[in-house]
Order: sequence, then C-alpha cells, then structure tokens
Amino acid sequence: MRTKKTIFVRGLPIGGGSAIAIQSMTNIPVADVEGTLAQIERCAKSGCDIMRVAIPNRQSAEAFSQLRKQTDVPLVADIHFDYRLAIAAMEAGADKIRINPGNMSLAQLNDVIACAQKHRVPVRIGVNSGSVNKDALVSAQGNRARALLWSLEQYVRYFESKGFYDLVLSVKSTDVRETVEANRLVAQLGYPLHLGVTEAGLLRQGLVKNSIGIGSLLLDGIGDTIRVSLTADPVDEVLAAKDILVSLGLRQGVTFVSCPKCGRCSIDLEAVANDIYDYVKNIDKNVKIAVMGCEVNGPGECSDADLGMAGANGNFVFFKHGKRYKTVPAEDAVQLFKKEIDILTNAN
Ligand code: SF4
Repeated sequence: MRTKKTIFVRGLPIGGGSAIAIQSMTNIPVADVEGTLAQIERCAKSGCDIMRVAIPNRQSAEAFSQLRKQTDVPLVADIHFDYRLAIAAMEAGADKIRINPGNMSLAQLNDVIACAQKHRVPVRIGVNSGSVNKDALVSAQGNRARALLWSLEQYVRYFESKGFYDLVLSVKSTDVRETVEANRLVAQLGYPLHLGVTEAGLLRQGLVKNSIGIGSLLLDGIGDTIRVSLTADPVDEVLAAKDILVSLGLRQGVTFVSCPKCGRCSIDLEAVANDIYDYVKNIDKNVKIAVMGCEVNGPGECSDADLGMAGANGNFVFFKHGKRYKTVPAEDAVQLFKKEIDILTNAN
C-alpha cells in the first residue's frame, strides 16, 4: 500500500505514488567539503536522488552550510543527539532532516519542530532495533516489530499534536525479517516510508540482506524512498538501489544479463561483462543487454534481449532478440558492441 501523502524534498516528491527515490549517504567527514561534494556528485551521476550527510558537531554544521551552497542535489542532514545541530542545519538550507526523537528532551524536540515548520523542512523520524522504547518492548511482549511500531507511533502522534505532518518514517533492524514485519505494520500509519536494512554489512552480504528486505516490501507495494546500506562506496549503494528498482519494474534502466558461463565458454567472460556493465550502468532507458559465454546457447537463452553478444571461438556474434546479425573478431568486439549500444539507446 503506497502512501497517499506526499512530502517534498527540494521539490522532489516522496510518497503519494511518486517514483521511488534513491538515497545514499556520504561516508567522509563533511568538514572535507570538496571531498563530500565530489562524493555527492558521483552518486547523483549514478542515479542518486537524495544524499544524506552526517552532522555530528558544530564544525560539521558550518561545513554543511558551505556544501549547501555548492550543489543542487537534495540534502538531508542526519542529526543524532544535539537538537541545536538540527536547527543549524535547517537554517543552513537542509532539504530534510533525519532525527531520532528519543535522543532529545521534549523541549528540544519542540524547538526542532518549530524550526522545521518555519523553514518548511520535512523530518524523517526513525527508530531502529537499537533505539526501540523499552516500555514498548514490554507491552509488545517481546514482539520487536510491534515494539518498533509503537515506539515510532508515539513520536508520530507527538508531531501531529504540534500540527506537523511533513514526516517520513523509518523502522530498521539488522534483522531482515524484523525489518520487513515492522515496515508492514508502520505502513498503516499512512506516511511516506524510507526503507533499508540497517548495518547490513559488507558488499555481498549487504546486497543480499537489502535486496530481500527492501525487495519484499516493494513487492508488497510498501516504500517510497530506499537506501541500500553497505560498508562500501556510496556509489555501490546507489547502483544496487537502482538494480532493485529496475528489477522490479519500478524505475527505468538497463536490465543487464550475463550467463554464469560453463565449460563451453572460451572467452574471458567476466572481463567483457564487467566492461559492458560499466558502460551501460548509468543509462536510464528500459533496454535489456546480454553478454553470453557461447554462441551455442547464448542467443537462444537471451532471446528477449534487445542486444546481445556471445563468445564464439576467437570471435563474438552479436544478436538482437535472439537473432544473430553480425560476427566480429574478439579483439574488436567490446568496442563495436558499445557502438551498437549507443545506436540502440540513442534511438529509443
Ligand atoms: S551461454 Fe553458453 S557458456 Fe554461458 S552458461 Fe549457457 S551454455 Fe554455458
């Protein structure tokens, strides 16, 4: 159930059936403004819609102010404890802030809400398994998903009591099943949802956990913005998020296919596939590209690919929709195939 409510982050709609926005987070101190800016631009170029930046101290808030002036990418300020930093970030032009209200007194929270109202800044309020309210856990008789819902709901009601409704909600756990169950419950609150599996781990494990967690919820029609959390380059988070959305038909992009290769393969398939994938990864058109290990089964196995290449004894055959149309020497194949991709994607 996609939420009906829409909030806007620097004009980008979140919720209300809008396209699902991809988020990532910079992973160097924002005091390095140039480095942070470079990371933001690399992520945006890869398809990231919103970038989040950690603001742990006053110096970071000042650097955030510099950053804000140098990019048009929507920026979320991530504040953990000090409500004054949330206020400083909003005054510096943050497009959204992310806070955990449980880390602030009510008086401090009131100041944050008043500032967000004044500057029309949406607020993401998040609860994760580490910050779940202990009373809620007791009331939920140990059901952590329900405890996460109740913890979050009490904050939502508090914001509503102050007349503030520009909320994005998130509940996360390092446990995939718990994340999915909690989000299914939280979706009933009717606010845009930010999906992710927190602290999911290194690249391979993180991709698996996020794909299952985020993918299950998206298949249920739940979720409005996603972040694939990885111990890796933020660009990897963006590309993974894009792959999840493209795989589910929720975003335009290239469906890239390559075979696992077997004893019939006589080429360095991995190198060729990596090269072609790098070439197509930022194309935002719905095309299917295949790189296959052999001419015997490749074209047939990928008969629905718009364009494909398959290794063939010192050559490559190129095929469209399963039909061969060209054979080229292996040493020229990658370059020539990229030209075919250009023709295909420029025509579409
Ligand atoms: S396309 Fe050819 S090389 Fe690749 S898995 Fe199929 S049979 Fe093996």
